[in-house]
Amino acid sequence: MKVGIDLGTTYSTVAKYDKKTSRPEIINNKFEKELTPSVICFLDNGEILIGEDAKDMQAGGAGTIAASFKRGMGDNSFTVESNGKVYTAEDLSAMLLKKLIKDAEEKSGEKIDSVVITVPAYFNDFQRTATIRAGEACGVKVMKIINEPTAAAISYGYNRESNKTVMVYDLGGGTFDVTIVKVNKGNIQVVGTDGNHILGGKDWDAAIVKFVCEQFLEEYGVDPRDDEPTKNEMIVASENYKKVLTKTDSVTIQVRHEGYTGKYTLTREQFNMRTQFLLSATKDVCMKLFADLGMNWSDIDEVLLVGGSTRMPQVTEFLKKVSGRPVIDHADTDLAVAKGAAITSEFYCSTSTGVRDVQITDVTAHSLGALSVSPGGDRYINEIMIKRNSKVPTSVRKPFKIDPGNMTSVIEVFTLQGESRVPLDCYVLARVVITGFYNSGEGTLIDIEYNYDENGVVRVSAFQNGQPLQVDSQPVPDDITWMNDPPKDRGSGAPIAKNVVLCIDLSRSMRNSLEEVRKVINDFVMTVAGDNTKFGLIGFGDKVGIMRDMTSDPNTIVAALDGLKVNVYGRGTDACPLGTASMMLSNRPGGKMIVVLTDGIWGKRDFAVGEANICRNAKTAVVAVGIGDADWGFLKQISTVEEGAMYTTLDRLGETFSTIATALNTGSMGVRESAGDTARLGTGEIRGRIR
Ligand code: ADP
Ligand code: MG
Repeated sequence: MKVGIDLGTTYSTVAKYDKKTSRPEIINNKFEKELTPSVICFLDNGEILIGEDAKDMQAGGAGTIAASFKRGMGDNSFTVESNGKVYTAEDLSAMLLKKLIKDAEEKSGEKIDSVVITVPAYFNDFQRTATIRAGEACGVKVMKIINEPTAAAISYGYNRESNKTVMVYDLGGGTFDVTIVKVNKGNIQVVGTDGNHILGGKDWDAAIVKFVCEQFLEEYGVDPRDDEPTKNEMIVASENYKKVLTKTDSVTIQVRHEGYTGKYTLTREQFNMRTQFLLSATKDVCMKLFADLGMNWSDIDEVLLVGGSTRMPQVTEFLKKVSGRPVIDHADTDLAVAKGAAITSEFYCSTSTGVRDVQITDVTAHSLGALSVSPGGDRYINEIMIKRNSKVPTSVRKPFKIDPGNMTSVIEVFTLQGESRVPLDCYVLARVVITGFYNSGEGTLIDIEYNYDENGVVRVSAFQNGQPLQVDSQPVPDDITWMNDPPKDRGSGAPIAKNVVLCIDLSRSMRNSLEEVRKVINDFVMTVAGDNTKFGLIGFGDKVGIMRDMTSDPNTIVAALDGLKVNVYGRGTDACPLGTASMMLSNRPGGKMIVVLTDGIWGKRDFAVGEANICRNAKTAVVAVGIGDADWGFLKQISTVEEGAMYTTLDRLGETFSTIATALNTGSMGVRESAGDTARLGTGEIRGRIR
């Protein structure tokens, strides 16, 4: 038998799809209850109680209690210790799952062999993998991990014919999630998801504690919150008062502290007023998701309520008002997720024999990036590979560059989860080590690929020239604070060899610019010159002329610059200097760059683009600087590096060339894959960290 399991923070539920009735059905536990508390109790005599029995013990205060362990999933520092044994959240989840499965088997008289387990949409790779392992530890096949809001949408939408866009508004105990889903004849397509994971029912409880204590303080001059046990008791009691307010218009609350007794009445209206800001905060999350997706309330057909806290009547009122849309308050709030998982186990798993022609498309809740070095080489950045709200499964491959001069044979890639460019603002998910590649030391390119599978689990692979490389998982080190520091030891000590050919347009239209050009190029050469740098100088017009072949003596270049004159190679620009320049650079060790300066569009434009491609294949960086009548589109076509098309003015030519000098000195300008490709290469290079 296949079942769906809602492995909840506070309660868990098991459901199966009943083929006779064509409906998902909850499988009750031994106590004939639909929900089983997600609680485990370790008694001192070694006995372990799970579920209902454990919850009873929790109330009585006996044994060691493990509760809300779902929050610790994937976090190895979360442990519960009992009788000398240490349990991680994964161990505890496995124990709970085993119990849920055993109870459901006894109840239904059927053996369970495969399961679908639900997780919060924001669960990361670690937490999902830990959930899969917990399931497998029970000896069942985990067919699929599915997001809770998606499951809720499935249980609501799988049997509807209509084409609807539904917002799943899930307000639980400690988290709020919003997910937009398109439902069409059983096809479920998740459009986007977002959430606030510190906002939930507990904040409404806290508002009640605050209300009571403020009045108590005013009346007796002491604050019950100053006494920790009293405070904890009040927090627990407030959850019940809150539930009373769901049913009635007011509740009377009594508090004893330091010999005083206060008695206060809280009306639903007062409660609503005092918690209005919390509802507004949920709306902010919805608006942010809308902004991300370019949507609005008018795109939503229905709002579907999920989560225990949506039972509060003010939630429906508020949502009706702000959305202007029908708000569906599902009678099944607690069960929708498990039922959706059951439906999934029958129809939406690749191994299933279901015949419905349906599918689920889900999205990623977070962006995933790779730790890389900024274009300027001065800091580490999160280079995003897969953007949040991308459809899954998905795979993205991007080229990265090893610093020229760095002879490493080992690269480590850190997988980062989060939206920030700053690595330590993100969650460091994993680390892999790549080996077995050829490194020429001239800025070797390695393709890194991220695969995000249907369960939301990420796999990293690497390629060189299309050939797969060895990739091994390694633990993330405890100390990763270095990600905040500037990247050190670029290169392997030896200075990077650089070869630069300067190509100057000497057509007639350049006549008034040449004096400035001479000065700017002079400065550029003197800035970049060094033992390891060689220059060449080309002039072009209707023909191409080599004015100086490759030399490491900057003075000979400076002398040649003095001889710059227009019209010596013809009045027009029918020639392209790239082929000649490329020839001058061929077979030279180190980085290769061609800098072209022009003030117009060349006569044989297509020919120039072809020669630029040859340069690209030879891993030669072509930087195209344009002034006057040059156009940026053309510059972009002939440049081979990121931001290598530079349209500027004569006034700012010096600035432009100093940008190029910096890029050359830091080796941060890499070759782009194809013309017009906006991202990559050189924007981020994975550091080859030498060990
Ligand atoms: P989670 O999925 O985060 O474990 P649930 O969806 O089960 O949470 O919702 C639990 C929350 O719902 C708790 O904060 C609880 O107080 C609240 N809740 C449950 N029933 C009611 C009710 N009748 N009125 C108000 N809040 C409720
Ligand atoms: Mg929930």
